[in-house]
Amino acid sequence: MANHLFDLVRARMPAGQSPFIVHPDGKALSYGDLEAVSARLAGALVAAGVVPGDRVAVQVEKSANALMLYLACVRAGAVFLPLNAAYTLAELEYFIGDAEPALIVCDPSRQAGIVAIARGAAVETLDASGEGSLMQKAQGMPDLFADAARGPDDLAAILYTSGTTGRSKGAMLSHDNLASNALTLVDFWRFGRSDVLLHALPIFHTHGLFVGTNVVLLAGASMLFLPKFDADEVMRLMPRATTMMGVPTFYVRLLDHAGLTREATAHMRLFVSGSAPLLADTHRDWSQRTGHAILERYGMTETNMNTSNPYDGDRVAGTVGPPLPGVAARITDPETAAALPAGEIGMIEVRGPNVFKGYWRNPEKTASEFRADGFFITGDLGKIDEKGYVHIVGRGKDLIITGGYNVYPKEVESEIDALPGVVESAVIGLAHKDFGEAVTAVVVRAKGADLDDRAVMAALEGRLARFKQPKRVFIVDELPRNTMGKVQKNVLREMYAWVFG
Ligand code: AMP
Repeated sequence: MANHLFDLVRARMPAGQSPFIVHPDGKALSYGDLEAVSARLAGALVAAGVVPGDRVAVQVEKSANALMLYLACVRAGAVFLPLNAAYTLAELEYFIGDAEPALIVCDPSRQAGIVAIARGAAVETLDASGEGSLMQKAQGMPDLFADAARGPDDLAAILYTSGTTGRSKGAMLSHDNLASNALTLVDFWRFGRSDVLLHALPIFHTHGLFVGTNVVLLAGASMLFLPKFDADEVMRLMPRATTMMGVPTFYVRLLDHAGLTREATAHMRLFVSGSAPLLADTHRDWSQRTGHAILERYGMTETNMNTSNPYDGDRVAGTVGPPLPGVAARITDPETAAALPAGEIGMIEVRGPNVFKGYWRNPEKTASEFRADGFFITGDLGKIDEKGYVHIVGRGKDLIITGGYNVYPKEVESEIDALPGVVESAVIGLAHKDFGEAVTAVVVRAKGADLDDRAVMAALEGRLARFKQPKRVFIVDELPRNTMGKVQKNVLREMYAWVFG
C-alpha cells in the first residue's frame, strides 16, 4: 500500500552507502541506515500501541535519531508532534491535553515529570546522544517495516504555532503539504545529490525540520548536523558544505566572525535566510564580505514556504521574492477583504498545496482564517510590487493605530535603522489615553556610537509624518528574540507597558 511521503523519499534515495546525516566528528548515518533505523523505530511505535492517526509528541534534544523518529512516524502512519525543548512542564500539560498523544518521547531528565501529566500516554526516552528507552525497544525490531497506507491528505505532523498572542494552535500538515513543498524547493533552489547542507537549526520548527530536512531528503543530498548554531563551529565546517539555511541571527553573528571572508565561502552555492526579516544592511554587508547574495524566503508553520527570491535573477534585499511555483499570493484590505492593487499594503493571503489542513480541534479558528475561495489569511501585512516581489511590513497584530492613523512598524524601523550608530530597532504601539496607541521605538546602538533618544527623535523629524514619529525612544543593548531569531514584540510591549500609563 502507498505511503505518500515515505514512498517519495524512497523513490528519490541514493544508494545505501550514501551519507544522509554527517556529524561534525565524522560519524555518519547513511541512506541505508535511514531505512533500517526508521523501520526499527516504526516497529517500536507499533509495539507501543501506536496506530495510524495517533499523535506522537516528541520533546527531545536535536539528534539524528530524533529525525529518524519523525520518519518512523511517517512510516507508521502516526502524526509527528515535535515540541520546543524549552517548553516547561506546565506548557507541556496544555499540549498533551490538546493533542492527546498515544506516546510521548522525552529527554530522560524530564521523564518523571512527564509521566505525571501523560494522561495515560506511554512515555519513552531519547537523549541528546540519540539513546534511551525508545532506541532500546527499537533494537530488537526488524530492519524492514510494512509502511502504513497513507494518502496525500492524511496528516503527517502537527506543529504548534509559537503563540505570541493567546494559546498556541496545532497546525495540521498533511503528507502532501510536506511533499509538494519540499519538491518545489528542491527544484527552485537546485538541490542535488552532491549538496551538503550546513544544518544548525532546531528540528522542532518548520524551518529546520521540513525546509532543511525534507529538501535534503528529496534531493538525496546530505547534511552536516550541528546540535546548535555556533559561529566558530559553522566556520570550521563551512569548507565541507555547499549550502546553508539560517535565521537572520546566524548571518548577523557570522558577520561578526573574523573568519568570514570571500575565500572561506567561495565554494558555497547558496545561503538561504528566513523565519524572521533579514535586515537590508545584513544582506548588503554579507554581499560585500562574501560576494554571495543571501536568498531570502518567506513561510510559516501553517503554510510551509510561500515565496522565495529567485535562484537566478535579482535577490532583492528587504523583500521575500515572488510566490513559489504553484503558490498564489494576494493582498487584501484587512477590513473589507477586497483585493488590493500592486504596491498597496494589506493582508497577505496565500493558497496552494503547501497550505495546511486547519487547526487541530479548532474548526472555528480554521474557518475564520480561510476565505471561501481557499486562500489562507496569513496575519502578515505586506505588499506586492510591480515586479511581483512580496514585501512584508510586519504581523497584523503589530500594526499600530495611533490617533486613528495606521502606522506600519517596518516603515519607522527602516528609517531608524538607516541612522548612523543604529544596529537595529523595534517599533511598537503602547497604550496611550489620547492616541489609543503611541508609537515607541526600542533601538540597539552600535558599540561605541554616540547616540541617544533625543538624537533619534530629532533625526526622524522631516523624514516621517509627525504621527509616525516615535513619542518615546529607548536605547538598549539587544532586542529580545525567540529561538528562531524573531524579535518578541509582545515581550517589549509588556516591558514598556508603563511608559504612557
Ligand atoms: P513560524 O510559524 O514560526 O515559522 O513564523 C511565521 C512568521 O514568521 C510569518 O508569518 C512571518 O511573520 C515571519 N517570517 C517568516 N519568514 C520571514 C521573512 N523572510 N521575513 C519576514 N518575516 C518572516
